[in-house]
Amino acid sequence: MTSHARASQPICGQAVVVGAGMAGLMAAAVLAEFFSKVVIIERDTLPDTPALRKGVPQGAHVHTFLGYAVEAMEKLIPGIMEELYGAGAVRIRRNHDIWFHDADGPTPIRDVGILTPSVTRPLLEHRTRERVEALANVKLSDGTRMLGFETGAGGSVAGISVRTSGADAETIPADLVIDCSGRGSRLPAWLEDEGYGPVPEQTLDIAMSYTSGLFRPPAELRGDKWACLMLAIPPSLRASYLTPVDGGLWLATMYARAGDTAPRDHEGFVEWTRGLAHPCIHERLVQGEPVSKLSSYNIPKGTWRRFDRMERFPLGVLPMGEAFTSFNPMYGQGISLAAGQALSLRGTLQRCAEAGSEGRIAASYFSGCHDLNATGWSVMETRDLAYSSTKGPRPADLEERWRFGRAIRDLAEQDGEVHTLMVRVTHLLDPPAVLRDPAIVKRSEAIAAGT
Ligand SMILES: Cc1cc2nc3c(=O)[nH]c(=O)nc-3n(C[C@H](O)[C@H](O)[C@H](O)COP(=O)(O)OP(=O)(O)OC[C@H]3O[C@@H](n4cnc5c(N)ncnc54)[C@H](O)[C@@H]3O)c2cc1C
Repeated sequence: MTSHARASQPICGQAVVVGAGMAGLMAAAVLAEFFSKVVIIERDTLPDTPALRKGVPQGAHVHTFLGYAVEAMEKLIPGIMEELYGAGAVRIRRNHDIWFHDADGPTPIRDVGILTPSVTRPLLEHRTRERVEALANVKLSDGTRMLGFETGAGGSVAGISVRTSGADAETIPADLVIDCSGRGSRLPAWLEDEGYGPVPEQTLDIAMSYTSGLFRPPAELRGDKWACLMLAIPPSLRASYLTPVDGGLWLATMYARAGDTAPRDHEGFVEWTRGLAHPCIHERLVQGEPVSKLSSYNIPKGTWRRFDRMERFPLGVLPMGEAFTSFNPMYGQGISLAAGQALSLRGTLQRCAEAGSEGRIAASYFSGCHDLNATGWSVMETRDLAYSSTKGPRPADLEERWRFGRAIRDLAEQDGEVHTLMVRVTHLLDPPAVLRDPAIVKRSEAIAAGT
């Protein structure tokens, strides 16, 4: 048990986590506080050193941290941020070391008091996995594929069936299964087969493509913390992120929409950045030396599986991470949402341990992370619907959100405190309601009206 363990007695015997991605690792860290044994099942054979792997194809792309992810991961795995910095992650002062350009262009360069690590996904996962595997009651079985859920009494989930290569299929019983198997989760199909009905889904067709590669900066820029995240300015659909990462390298990701993709040859890739809204990324990249191949990843849609809206939900299983909320990763929310869900799981299990209310576990878990999920969705929806290529339901207040967002942005140009609040909302550290403070609304509207 970790120093954060709060359950005086384990709730039950064994919990199983499907998937050893970031969500699975954070889920296991929480479960280890409450269950006597936690088994993580991962289909990939996991590398001994930080390395890309097949089951996490997004590993080659920029994984930006939001402030929320930093705070939540620290609560789940204390000390992890310093470990990442010690291993080479670059400490970035948001909106100061990283120059953020939104859909209206560059935003002010200011220290808003949020520190985040700029780190390659393989190093992040590797260090997190080391910490979770070191927990005495956690066992990780890699090279083992989950085949399906095992149905128990009253339509609950009683475990999973798995196969390790070269061996027969076997059943692993579990008092609780956390499904962190990513976008391709089998949980929706199982729920339907077992008579729970289809899982309602909220989707937005974003038609995004990501292309990324590592570059070595020229000698005079090594150790320079400068980073830039440049969203596309409509009607342009091209965006880009260049950031220093561990190993003294730059990681560059190009974002395109609606069938457009940055080329996967280095010359074409660098040339593509010439067409971005501002030349700063191009000017740097032309000086870089390519040190990895370029990888692409397409994301047709953002999806929020609304398990919380189902009339019935079984005991014994919960979804987490991309299996639950897979939004447009352009806004860097994936790890934050998974971490928020892990914290909701912790709160739920704590209540169960104290009050023995296992029957309400799903309702408690879903409501504990609802507001964070909803804010993440709203950020994506408000930003993505500004691009003509995005298809999906338009919220009734979309124009008002844009109008208010522009007014706040204008005020933030002039006022560092409002700027900080605005960035804290984007980093999921504060609820959007903080920007509706009457004094802020009045001042932003006065600026918007030109008075
Ligand atoms: C291109 C891209 C860029 C991203 N950028 C960011 C970013 O900047 N910031 C951010 O916070 N988030 C980002 N994300 C999201 C982030 O990667 C995920 O949200 C986060 O890692 C949580 O993912 P997960 O663990 O739920 O799923 P995944 O990372 O998909 O992991 C699922 C795991 O389950 C395993 N698995 C699947 N099926 C089985 C099975 N049947 N049996 C056993 N194991 C199985 C897989 O091998 C894998 O290890 C990005 C995502 C993408 C696609």
